[in-house]
Amino acid sequence: MKLNDRGLLIVISGPSGVGKGTVRRALFNMPKHNLTYSVSMTTRKMRPGEVDGVDYYFVTKEQFEQKINEGKLLEHAEFVGNYYGTPLDKVNEKLDNGNEVVLEIEVEGALQVKSKMPDCVMIFLVPPGKQALYDRLKARGTESEEVINERIKKANREFKKAYLYDYIVVNDEVNNAADRIMAIIRAEHAKTARSIHKYMELIGESED
Ligand code: 5GP
Repeated sequence: MKLNDRGLLIVISGPSGVGKGTVRRALFNMPKHNLTYSVSMTTRKMRPGEVDGVDYYFVTKEQFEQKINEGKLLEHAEFVGNYYGTPLDKVNEKLDNGNEVVLEIEVEGALQVKSKMPDCVMIFLVPPGKQALYDRLKARGTESEEVINERIKKANREFKKAYLYDYIVVNDEVNNAADRIMAIIRAEHAKTARSIHKYMELIGESED
């Protein structure tokens, strides 16, 4: 397989409560795609309904630190008192097989990915308004008031980094947001830098 036939690495970030998980699930439910999700590793406690190995690989702090030391994470960051990171091996394997890989990660880790893999596609998901974030975090009912407030503060800091992303997508309605992300993925595939090699093969080496 040629280098340019590798899948796209798609990084989705956005403040806590913006609905990244819901939009991602809507994206994966769309027909005809080649998307795969990279399951992250975390030291955070499992929420009711979450499944180990599906939502996250839930590990201890010691296990996480061992992965860092062994160089087995593409990126990692601390988020409101817990570690989160992307296992490296699976990402490369999937990209080599021509699959698109979706990372749903916070800003600090996303910027590490950008510096290591500059041709990744960086998407920042925003809410239609600030109140929507608070309402969502409250409605989820899985965090204490203190943690919610920490997450809101963190969201404000993350917003300020949105300008470092390639695209900003508004999550006004889940299916609309998923449609916009799919449109971005299609447009990225058509970018000259990603597709010119195929065209050159078609016309061969002729000079006129
Ligand atoms: P939550 O605890 O709500 O599942 O996730 C908290 C934050 O960590 C979210 O912004 C989520 O996108 C981010 N996150 C999830 N997995 C990773 C990861 O592998 N790396 C980084 N840097 N952030 C992650």
